[in-house]
Amino acid sequence: MSAIDGLPPLRAVIAAHGLSARKALGQNFILDLNLTAKIARIAGDLSACDVVEVGPGPGGLTRGLLAEGARRVVAIEKDARCLPALQEIAAAYPGRLEIVQGDALEVDWAAMVTPPVRIVANLPYNVGTELLVRWLSPAAWPPVWSSLTLMFQREVAERIVAVPGSKAYGRLAVLANWRCEARIAMSLPPEAFVPPPKVRSAVVQLDALPAPRFPADPAVLSRVVAAAFNQRRKMLRAALRGLAPDIEDRLMASGIPPTDRAEDVGLEQFCALARNLA
Ligand code: SAM
Repeated sequence: MSAIDGLPPLRAVIAAHGLSARKALGQNFILDLNLTAKIARIAGDLSACDVVEVGPGPGGLTRGLLAEGARRVVAIEKDARCLPALQEIAAAYPGRLEIVQGDALEVDWAAMVTPPVRIVANLPYNVGTELLVRWLSPAAWPPVWSSLTLMFQREVAERIVAVPGSKAYGRLAVLANWRCEARIAMSLPPEAFVPPPKVRSAVVQLDALPAPRFPADPAVLSRVVAAAFNQRRKMLRAALRGLAPDIEDRLMASGIPPTDRAEDVGLEQFCALARNLA
């Protein structure tokens, strides 16, 4: 029995259900329930929230979220082998855990939740960045979710919180900082996971701002930033030539020297350029 919920320890759950980790599914499990409860606490008060969890696996973080008082957890898991273990957790928390078997890239979770909604996940590394970009890119703001508490490889976490002028600065930092407050909340060594990955990991906390920091059309901003950082070593007048024939004039009208490179340009200037191009 484990201290936080009276259910069996995760090692026993994994043995009982034959959940050997599969690399192709990005399976690096956290077995320490004190640690998963700590991650759940980073997300803030969960008692009045529905939580969406991507990739519950054997359920370590799911148990942390429920033990920390989440009103309801909707857990989306691709690996059918994990379902019996998750059903045991659902039975221990009647009416509070909904298990959805499927690919998080395809499941319409927004239709299954009641706001306020927090997304909390130890993301599979192979789809983590794509999910984050989608969550950061809705046309309307504020989004359905009010916060994201996400485990990434440390290098990806650093890209999310990077500032202009740094090597890690790029599309993820611009998208995250435009409409969220983002910070690294916890750093974890490889040994925190079973099996241990090759690199360190980190939990990033992103809180949705009530409105974007600067006005811009999301689709145009996304296009500008993607084009600028796709050729990050080139001067912007060359990297962005495909966006408008008179790009030099537009850059100057947006307060950006055409000879600058993408990593020199701050959020406010990118938004000004997106407005100019809209
Ligand atoms: N939450 C568990 C933990 O912290 O121990 C497991 C985390 S593990 C890093 C990632 C989980 O995501 C695995 O259980 C894996 O099967 C699941 N997964 C991988 N790809 C997925 C996808 N496209 N949609 C939903 N779940 C996925």
